[in-house]
Amino acid sequence: DVSVKIPLGALTAITGVSGSGKTSLVHHAVVPFVREKLTRSASEGERLHDLESGPMKRSPSLALRASAESDFIARLVEVTQSPLGRTPASNPATYSGVWDEVCKLFAQMRDSKLRGFRASRFKFNSPSGRCEACRGRGVQRVRLQLLPDVFVTCPTCRGDRFNAATLQVRFHGLTAADVLRQRMDEAWEVFANVPRVAGVLKTFREVGLGYLRLGQSATTLSGGEAQRVKLATELSRESSASTLFVLDEPTTGLHPVDVERLLSLLRRLVSAGHTVVVIEHHLDVIAHADWLIDLGPDGGSRGGQIVAEGSPADVTARGIGHTAQVLGERWRSVVDGSHLFG
Ligand SMILES: [Zn+2]
Repeated sequence: DVSVKIPLGALTAITGVSGSGKTSLVHHAVVPFVREKLTRSASEGERLHDLESGPMKRSPSLALRASAESDFIARLVEVTQSPLGRTPASNPATYSGVWDEVCKLFAQMRDSKLRGFRASRFKFNSPSGRCEACRGRGVQRVRLQLLPDVFVTCPTCRGDRFNAATLQVRFHGLTAADVLRQRMDEAWEVFANVPRVAGVLKTFREVGLGYLRLGQSATTLSGGEAQRVKLATELSRESSASTLFVLDEPTTGLHPVDVERLLSLLRRLVSAGHTVVVIEHHLDVIAHADWLIDLGPDGGSRGGQIVAEGSPADVTARGIGHTAQVLGERWRSVVDGSHLFG
């Protein structure tokens, strides 16, 4: 039996060589355990206060014990690099919910009230407000023989997505189409006096996503960007309940700068009182975690045991296991470097 302790309100990295049992621990033990607890506590009308020990349904040999140290968990969110949506119509503004707020704002404009326009008119898929030629997509599909379809800018609305009547309403001189073309950081200045909108845009800006356009098609975002949009959306929820975030190798394919951005997002979620569990091999993430659970000692039949657990400093100091060794080497090189240059 394996028993683990995952501190709440902290960033925990599950480490270990390939096949050491990281996936089993997280996806077959921690996630089902918490999900079952949440389902049960929801049906009993109360939140989950303590994670107790208990046998796992799907992997009965693995007993999980998690202790509540700082707070309770009320939600479970698994965050992946998968796209925000399957269609080009999904974008950061719709995903984060900020577009709903922008729509309400446009409906409050004098020109909307005079014409009887409601918020739904500005949701670019509403039949009353959208460009009918492209059904609010801003692009039209061109079918080619023997070749994949291509999308061209809609000649009727020139990519505006809305019909002419809808575009007569402006906020600070901008139409809804203009706002969708703005970058998050530009829009943040325009909506500075509208807290419900500015708050979300500010978060995106702070986590290094200020360059994204509000209406940027979800299909053009990289996996790393999609992942950060999801995390920034979570971070921007003002009164969100204490959440357990689970990420499986979130740094896969990321540029070093994006690893840094991801890490600072994870740290902010923890600062906001949430709990983050990552399966990770990236040393920067491991070194900045609050708690490590190193599995091993090797892969396959030689895996499935906890080799070391504790803070990165403690795990390194004890020197047991692969992760302790690579962390130790990394820190020695940092210290040597500072002697060299300091
Ligand atoms: Zn159109």
